[in-house]
Amino acid sequence: PALIEVKQLKRYFGPTARPVRAVDDVSFTIQPGETLGLVGESGSGKSTIGRTLLRLIDASSGQVLYRGEDLGTAAPKRMRALRSKLQIIFQDPYASLNPKMRIGAILGEALAAHGLARGKGESEARIAELLQLVGLRPEHASRYPHEFSGGQRQRIGIARALAVEPEFIVADEPLSALDVSIQAQVVNLLSELRERLQLTMLFISHDLDVVEYLCDRVIVLYLGRVMEVARTEDLFERP
Ligand code: ADP
Ligand code: ADP
Repeated sequence: PALIEVKQLKRYFGPTARPVRAVDDVSFTIQPGETLGLVGESGSGKSTIGRTLLRLIDASSGQVLYRGEDLGTAAPKRMRALRSKLQIIFQDPYASLNPKMRIGAILGEALAAHGLARGKGESEARIAELLQLVGLRPEHASRYPHEFSGGQRQRIGIARALAVEPEFIVADEPLSALDVSIQAQVVNLLSELRERLQLTMLFISHDLDVVEYLCDRVIVLYLGRVMEVARTEDLFERP
């Protein structure tokens, strides 16, 4: 069965008389372990879909099922429990990193919020492990977000998402804010982590080369609608 099933999803913004149809009747599934690419020009609804999938914003209509469970009708308490399974990596890592908190505290808070570390020792050990997982060092825990380079900061954003042991990750343009020279490193990290942690991913991007490299299937969006769903090798098939 699908890990994520999206059924006739719609999301409108603005006044009901003249709504912007950001997402207009979109349906698709994501299989366990799959990386699904979501491409389309700016404003085509990619981000809105990503956020709706995690219920960071509500749908106007339609359904998002996680392992068959309708997220739209999940009670707040149930949704809080599900949150750890469904994480997002933002374009701007500051979106999930409080600039006033040390990295260790940011990761420790995420662990504590989901009961994933009992006591200081266990928490510190897990934080060191998370930092190593994303290619940083345990001593980085005592630093603040602004003390890192853009690429390192995105690694911390990734560690923040992984801290709570998610099954499904939405990566929303995770490379767009990075120098081109750093992008390949972060792509390789995501690719490696996906294998290692058996993650299922929705990868939002406008970089078709990266999508071709990373994704099993691709959805092409245009003005909030699905134009095409294809296996990556078919979409990028060269004549
Ligand atoms: P993409 O990620 O593909 O660039 P978005 O999902 O961000 O597209 O936006 C899709 C459409 O929805 C755009 O027309 C955008 O202006 C509109 N939109 C997105 N978020 C909001 C919002 N909070 N309020 C009003 N309009 C929005
Ligand atoms: P606050 O500023 O309220 O202390 P945060 O800004 O760290 O908290 O996070 C706000 C909410 O967003 C929290 O519910 C947190 O669990 C959630 N959150 C933060 N980062 C992520 C992420 N990468 N993926 C999903 N949810 C996140």
